[in-house]
Amino acid sequence: MNLPPVPAPDAVTAGWWEATREHRLTVQRCTACSRPQHPPRSICIHCGRTDALRLDDAAGTGVVDSFTVVHRAPFPDLEVPYVIARVRLDEGVICLTRLTNADPDSWRIGDRVRVDWIDLPDGRALPVFVPAPAEPPR
Ligand code: ZN
Repeated sequence: MNLPPVPAPDAVTAGWWEATREHRLTVQRCTACSRPQHPPRSICIHCGRTDALRLDDAAGTGVVDSFTVVHRAPFPDLEVPYVIARVRLDEGVICLTRLTNADPDSWRIGDRVRVDWIDLPDGRALPVFVPAPAEPPR
């Protein structure tokens, strides 16, 4: 899969990117108000704390919240069609991502998905989502 440029880690996202090297999807959680947020920020968007944020491993499962099939790529090297989606993780946060491993026209809002990884040349990995069984694992 060809990809557009992936942003470099910064002070706020470095830990999140480090976990992708081990194919671990993480979600930032505030230990003061217990609420999750994504992407990682330097401040809790719920309670405003800046000193209570940590990264927790996510289950890696969720549902398709919204998606679009891209037929005209913004960069000439991107292979089309591809699917850009909002996935609502089971932790409650939204990830902007890609859906793969299915016909682009077969996706439906509410489909169960699980994370899969595209390894990047620098050792990081990019999370994408693929079809998952309809019922979450117990
Ligand atoms: Zn908070």
